[in-house]
Amino acid sequence: MDRFAVFGNPIAHSLSPLLHNYAIKFLELDAYYGRVLLQRGEELRAKFEALRLAGANVTVPFKLDAFKACDILSEAAQKIGSVNTLVLKSGALHGFNTDAQGFFCAILDFGEIRSALILGAGGTTRAIGYALGKNGVKFDILNRSAKDFDFGCEEFFTYENFRSKDYDLIVNATGAGLKDDALPAPKGVIDEILSRAKFAFDAIYGKQTPFLQAARAKNLPVKDGKEMLINQGALAFNLFFSGKFDLAEIVSLMSRASNLR
Ligand code: NDP
Repeated sequence: MDRFAVFGNPIAHSLSPLLHNYAIKFLELDAYYGRVLLQRGEELRAKFEALRLAGANVTVPFKLDAFKACDILSEAAQKIGSVNTLVLKSGALHGFNTDAQGFFCAILDFGEIRSALILGAGGTTRAIGYALGKNGVKFDILNRSAKDFDFGCEEFFTYENFRSKDYDLIVNATGAGLKDDALPAPKGVIDEILSRAKFAFDAIYGKQTPFLQAARAKNLPVKDGKEMLINQGALAFNLFFSGKFDLAEIVSLMSRASNLR
């Protein structure tokens, strides 16, 4: 039996076991996908090996530890600087980042996007920025604090020096609204950027965040992070099983599974 798991802390809420086990069962594979509550990121590789896993997903706050634990990194993982998917191949630990492509798949049906503003400057912003840049979308970043990191953006703003523009897409990649009712930037700024935008995307899923509510109030087409989650999961699944399944079928199976909860 091939064993897989998701590592994180906290991990009880993770939808990944449900999504992966549903696809495993439907495809009648001899495999199982569990969850591991990790205390320290440095223990990730030892735990992966002790559990004799064939592959794993890694979530908050261990994506940088996963990056450091790998022998071989995909181009995306290298550029983004974080890993959310681990695969063991011939004794070597390979690291991938499927958040980036997962995000881009989720925004494809919005329509044409040439410019974007990402709110936040953490790991998710790096993945989303990588995906936008690779697909020819110019983007700026607005974060509450200054950062010393090259995100590949056109301009990096904090609230103090922000100048609003006409962005096609506004992305919330902060944790604002996840466990509270906060907007990801001051209300005046949010109102201004959404008034001039065409689409809004929130990486947070399963919740009507204040950001999504504000975008809906402006009649913008909106999406939360559920499709991003499903797409990153399906892409990881295909990496676990050497790409032998149709990605669209895995996406459809995982979408069905996500509605079971
Ligand atoms: P990080 O902790 O790496 O970064 C968080 C960023 O958000 C930082 O830039 C931080 O600012 C900013 N921030 C946090 N709280 C607030 C606030 N109240 N107001 C304004 N800015 C704030 O987090 P991640 O990048 O890992 O995750 C970001 C979000 O993306 C999370 O909500 C997570 O759930 C979601 N996510 C969704 C995925 C999906 O598949 N749908 C996949 C991965 C993540 P500062 O730099 O000043 O601290």
